[in-house]
Formats: sequence, structure tokens, C-alpha cells
Amino acid sequence: MKIIDLLKNEKVCISCELFPPKAGTELQNALNIVSDIAEVGPHFMSVTYGAGGTSVGQTVAIARAIEASGRPALAHLTCIDADEAKIDGVLAQMRAAGVQNVLALRGDAVNGNDGDFAHASDLMGKIKKAGDFCVGGACYPEGHPEAGSLDRDIVNTRRKIDSGCDFLVTQMVFDNNIIYNYMYRLLRHGIDVPVVAGIMPVTNAKQINRICELSGTKLPANYRAIVEKFADDPEALKQAGIAYATGQIVDLIANGLKNIHVYTMNRPEIIGGIMKNLSEIVK
Ligand code: FAD
Repeated sequence: MKIIDLLKNEKVCISCELFPPKAGTELQNALNIVSDIAEVGPHFMSVTYGAGGTSVGQTVAIARAIEASGRPALAHLTCIDADEAKIDGVLAQMRAAGVQNVLALRGDAVNGNDGDFAHASDLMGKIKKAGDFCVGGACYPEGHPEAGSLDRDIVNTRRKIDSGCDFLVTQMVFDNNIIYNYMYRLLRHGIDVPVVAGIMPVTNAKQINRICELSGTKLPANYRAIVEKFADDPEALKQAGIAYATGQIVDLIANGLKNIHVYTMNRPEIIGGIMKNLSEIVK
């Protein structure tokens, strides 16, 4: 199934993200997580692609398991240091695994980029030419750290749409007003593809500080107070993180943004807790 069809219909769509185990480590645990998560009922699941293509086999195996669970898989694919032949090979593997949806990314250019594709938009053009994939892209309501300005960031996001990107998934955002403001700015630039709002339930105080530092995402004062209060009590922080994320999602749905992507960090109980809280809203 094409994810764009879920995003364009009237129903609320809740998806979640998994990451593959490191190359050479046990895959079975991740496959078990796929079936545990499928049981709590997200509408689709995405699986990340290890930096520099280190996890191709694992990403494809997990995407295949997601498809087998009856949910559409969104397989991430990065182009950093990749040449045309490598991308052709990965797309062939994805097609053979039944994957119809790809999130096309550049990846982080820590040591530059020796590949054939400078930017995600170049990869999107390639994938669209390669066949019948539904293609998504990343977007950054608070700006990508390398973009220089919020306006430049949106001009570069527009390149993704012009290259055939069917929908966008946002970097995590903890303050819905930032998403609403971003939606206006996208429309001003003529971008009207479905936007899936990225929500991360905070469950680890140290980890969230690092993620915010690297991505440029701001943790609002009210959420920071919650994280600090429960920093040393993981179960309390998890409960508070699920509650805060649920509140964000309810507010987004009430304001007309019905496509939500939850960064679950491979923990079924987190997406499960959110889906339970939303059981009368997501029917
Ligand atoms: P690009 O669109 O290429 O943008 C990178 C930078 O270049 C931006 O600053 C942009 O403004 C600028 N730019 C774009 N086009 C041009 C142009 N034509 N000329 C000049 N500048 C330009 N990383 C992984 O390794 N694996 C994953 O699975 C993964 N999944 C992700 C999922 C989501 C939803 C998000 C938000 C990020 C994910 N990332 C992942 C991280 C992502 O790879 C990084 O944020 C990366 O730095 C940028 O990727 P991009 O696809 O947005 O790249």
C-alpha cells in the first residue's frame, strides 16, 4: 500500500519509527519488536537507514517484516557516499521485500560526501525515475542546522517537492505552535503536500539534551521542567513523556493536522501507551 493514500484520506494516521540493530548484531529482537508494535495498531511503521548505509540488510529485513505484519513499511534510504549502482541495488532489494514507500534522505555529512547525489532532492529524482515508489522526505520546522536561515531551509525543501517528493515528515517538535507557524510558511512557498508531524515522547533526560543539541530542536520550558523533575525516575519520566506526547497529538488533531509520526525508540510500550490514550480518537 502507498502511504500517500493513508495521508490523504480523512482519517487520523499515527505512524512510528524503528531503527535496525547494528550490523552483525542480533536481528531477531528487532523482528520481535516489529510484531509487538504492529499489535498496538500504528497505521504504518518506518525503519531508519544506518549512517552511510551500514545497515542496508537489516533495514530491508525489518521493512519486509513490517509488510508481513500487514502494515505498510516506510524504508529510509540515505545517499551520502552512495553511487548510482549502490542505490539501484538497494532499491532492487526493497522492491523484492515488497516495500512501496521510501523516505529519501541525504544523511549526515560528517566527513563530506563522496557520492553521486549531493542532496536528498537528487536522490528523490532518481527513485521516482527508478519505478513506482511513493517517496517521502524530511523537513525541519526549526530549520536544518546547515541551511543558514529558515527561508533558505524552505527554499531547499521546495526542491524536494519539485523532484517528486510526495509527502514530508518533520524533525521532532515539542511545541505545536512551531508546527502551525511552519505550515503557514510552507504554504507561502507553494508546498501543499501532506506533512506528517514528528513527535518524540521524552523518556531519557540525558539523551534528549544531546538530541536537541545536535538537531537544533528546542525543548520548551514546561517540558524541560517535566524532564528535570523526573530525570532520575525512568518509569515516571516515561509516563510523563507519553502523557505530554498524547497532549501534543490531541492538540494537533484538534487543529487539523491528522498525520502524526511517533519516534518510539524501538519501545513498543511507548507507542502502545500513546495508542491506548488515543483509543477513542483514533478509531
Ligand atoms: P538535504 O535535503 O540534502 O539537506 C541537507 C542540507 O542541505 C540542508 O541544510 C538543506 O537546506 C541543504 N540543501 C538541500 N538542497 C540543497 C541545494 N540544492 N543546494 C544547497 N543546499 C541544499 N539520517 C540517517 O542517516 N538515516 C535515517 O534513517 C534518517 N532518518 C531521518 C528521518 C527524518 C524524519 C529526519 C527529519 C531526519 C532523518 N535523518 C536520517 C537525518 C538526516 O539525514 C539529516 O538531517 C541530514 O543532515 C539531512 O538530510 P536531508 O534529507 O534533509 O538532506
